[in-house]
Amino acid sequence: MAHPALPIFTPASGEEPPTLYLHIPFCKSRCAYCSFNSHACQSPPAAYLAALASQIRYWSAQEWCRERTFATLFIGGGTPTIYQGHELAGLVRQCLKSFNFREDPEITVEANPNTVTVEALTDLRRAGVNRLSLGVQAFSDRLLAGLGRSHTVAEAGLAIAAARRGGFANLNLDLMYGLPGQSVTDWRESLDQALAFGPEHLACYELTIEEGTPFGRLVEKGALTLPGEEEGLAMADLAHALLAQAGLARYEISNYAASGCQCRHNLNYWRNGSYLGLGAGAVSCLSGFRFSTVAEPGEFAGLVQSGELPLSEGECLPLAARFRESVVMGLRMLEGVSFARLERRFGLTPKGYYGKILDDLEQQGLVAVGKDSLRLTKAGLPVANQVLARLV
Ligand code: SF4
Repeated sequence: MAHPALPIFTPASGEEPPTLYLHIPFCKSRCAYCSFNSHACQSPPAAYLAALASQIRYWSAQEWCRERTFATLFIGGGTPTIYQGHELAGLVRQCLKSFNFREDPEITVEANPNTVTVEALTDLRRAGVNRLSLGVQAFSDRLLAGLGRSHTVAEAGLAIAAARRGGFANLNLDLMYGLPGQSVTDWRESLDQALAFGPEHLACYELTIEEGTPFGRLVEKGALTLPGEEEGLAMADLAHALLAQAGLARYEISNYAASGCQCRHNLNYWRNGSYLGLGAGAVSCLSGFRFSTVAEPGEFAGLVQSGELPLSEGECLPLAARFRESVVMGLRMLEGVSFARLERRFGLTPKGYYGKILDDLEQQGLVAVGKDSLRLTKAGLPVANQVLARLV
């Protein structure tokens, strides 16, 4: 298969092991708030999996990949488990055989509750998948229907039980708050029910309204009522309190984990490490060279089949831009950004680079500048977006 030549990557100093992401851009139906690269279909095309397999072969033979040891593999979507368990297990095995991975890689598969069975999950476990991330979103059929989710609360319970029976000891549940028609009491019920299943990891996201989605159009017409700002803050506070009581420590703005169960794959994004993304719309960043893949799954598969590299755009980020990105992404983590890591990679420090902007934020009590790291304070976390906007 003939592919155009790749750009020459400059080796970056202080680089940490990269991560590998595979994107499955299909879901049973589209949720009303979704702006991800995902397409509704009942039976996902085999040609897409073949194209992914071809990309795994291609990229694993590239020098940049051959010289590195990957830390994690994450199959996300969309709904990866819209494919059969053995099909996904085949992809995982191919990745493990083709790329160098550290001895105990974290391997995550995302799933939606009505697309998993014990058999499929057992297949995935046997292939080496050791983390399952379930998009539960809410423990209320009324709220799930309002979001346009294709599953029920009962199906979520069955999926969690199937995950445990399939051998998953590291389970993440995604939950959402700030939903239309959701009260603080509803949110407490979702949190209580989620905690009753003893997940090792919880991701609690506030609903964001994106343009071009059904919810975006309803908001434009003034036809969607969302909880107010105060209620949203109360929901966030409730999550922090209940999850801390349950032993799930907050380690990122929206993520909570039991000890040792932080998502290593996502930590690499927040630390602005290198990552290779394969599949329609996937983004890669290899030693500061960022590129994305064509988003439409049929076009992606067609280009791969005809021997072309399915890239859409790429840019080599200047050092200062990568430094700023590392600060902004890193501040999402409660541990903040390490000065030593920044110096090693960029030869820059936040104090030296931002000067007065950082002094102001510190005086306002929104960031804490320690001896070794910079982080958001308790007052800064709820207004993280505004703080980060000043550092972009
Ligand atoms: S399941 Fe996730 S990716 Fe699929 S449509 Fe819903 S929000 Fe989007």
